[in-house]
Amino acid sequence: MSYNWCHGPSCHTNRTLSRVRGSKGNKVLRTIRIKHGRYNYGSTLEQPMVWDYFCNQGCLMDFIREHITSVVAIAPRREALETPIKDPVKETSSANGYTWTNTRIEM
Ligand SMILES: [Zn+2]
Repeated sequence: MSYNWCHGPSCHTNRTLSRVRGSKGNKVLRTIRIKHGRYNYGSTLEQPMVWDYFCNQGCLMDFIREHITSVVAIAPRREALETPIKDPVKETSSANGYTWTNTRIEM
């Protein structure tokens, strides 16, 4: 079985019993160890997914906050992307005495 340590920069400071390790009188809070593919959502060793590296959303966001400049430098976007679409169509509907308008966008 393959494991990763959570990459959250302050994972080891969260006061949860699941992080407590060590012998009596010599306890520590330790970074969470994550079993690869723990949620069985299709990650593989060749194609790992985000929850193979972070124990929760807080640790993920802490990591992004701390490393955002490096993360976007991997694949910088210097121009806007565009998707061609047909002209948007306004549609009015009504039911139960209410009328609303939606704009349908198709590609
Ligand atoms: Zn964590």
